[in-house]
Amino acid sequence: MDDTSTPPRPADPDAASAALPATGPAVPSVQAVALKGLCPRCGAGTLFDGPIRFAPSCRACGLDIAGFDVGDGPAAFLTLILGALVVGLAIWLELALSPPHWVHLIWIPVTIGGVIGSLRLAKGALIALEYRNAAREWAAPPSAERAAIPQDDARS
Ligand SMILES: [Zn+2]
Repeated sequence: MDDTSTPPRPADPDAASAALPATGPAVPSVQAVALKGLCPRCGAGTLFDGPIRFAPSCRACGLDIAGFDVGDGPAAFLTLILGALVVGLAIWLELALSPPHWVHLIWIPVTIGGVIGSLRLAKGALIALEYRNAAREWAAPPSAERAAIPQDDARS
């Protein structure tokens, strides 16, 4: 059909979806990547190789996951948030219930679980955003290009 005008709306929705060309799996949402550890390109559950370690590449589609670098941002940010949260809860528990001291050992697994869970979420969300926005690490330009970049000192 050479007609490029607006196509007529089909009466049967099932017929419309059957007529769509096969475009492969849809790109998963940022939330799905973060919550389920999905590959940001194909949606397979291949993002992580360990509890918080990324796989080097997706085993389903071959996406180079190691090429992304989410850096230490999630770890530093979550350490501050989780530290404040756990200390606040420990103080609250002590003041409200005055339990025996051994009860405070609960904060060790709570902290470990919180760190692992929140790191997976944060790293998954960041890699999904990096993939969607085609973000890559900044590389210093070659020295010839660097010389052409105006310096702040030259203005004063
Ligand atoms: Zn994949």
